[in-house]
Amino acid sequence: GRYRLISGNWKMNLNHLEAIQLVQKLYFGLRDVDYSFSEISIHPPATSIRPLQLLIESDKMRFSLGAQNCFYEPSGAYTGEISASMLSKLNVKYVIVGHSERRRIFGETDEVVAAKVQSVFSEAMTPILCVGETAQERQDGLTDEVITRQVRGAMAELTGELASKIVVAYEPVWAIGTGAVATSDDAASGAQLIRQEINTLFGQGVSNSVRIQYGGSVTPVSAPELLATEGVDGLLVGGASLDAETFARIIRG
Ligand code: 13P
Repeated sequence: GRYRLISGNWKMNLNHLEAIQLVQKLYFGLRDVDYSFSEISIHPPATSIRPLQLLIESDKMRFSLGAQNCFYEPSGAYTGEISASMLSKLNVKYVIVGHSERRRIFGETDEVVAAKVQSVFSEAMTPILCVGETAQERQDGLTDEVITRQVRGAMAELTGELASKIVVAYEPVWAIGTGAVATSDDAASGAQLIRQEINTLFGQGVSNSVRIQYGGSVTPVSAPELLATEGVDGLLVGGASLDAETFARIIRG
């Protein structure tokens, strides 16, 4: 079976002091819980990665460190950007790539997303590739087309070996930050479309290995059913990961 991955994407929230406090609370909140059946990754803003690395390593917390983005060049005159190699030096394991907010607000194209996926792999980290349709695209019957294009656009140039290691998050844009969580059926069909396209590109062995998360308005109420959904191997949680008690409830299931 595929190892479950539950990730907290904090987006642009919490300074490094608040970040430390939240992770300490989360660790304490999970003290009696056997969460060895799933991996938990935490994706703070870049300013909190170093302090959280030190905290997680010194207290031997069972959390994996994640980032929300990186640039695709290894170094150079790219004011304001952070490279994959800088993240890997901080023991970052997962990097979210192609989040809908980056595509929409920062104009990231499928080509940019593909380059970022490559750069994350080149530093031996794992990309969490986000794909998903907007409300308009869904209304226009374009869901399949959008998901297929985003998966192909980001993954087509990978080797099968790398492709099998990717995590794909199905995040329907209409479900992000809206409280309009997808149904289990929606999540299942999104995951199936993703796996189908990976199967077309790389074959069944690869498509069976890839882990697929669902993301969009996940709460402790919706989490258990989503986690039990066919083809869904984890969750990418935004708002509900900003409160230790709430995120702990999601992890506990
Ligand atoms: P919310 O859980 O706040 O809807 O955000 C989902 C998301 O975008 C995670 O990457």
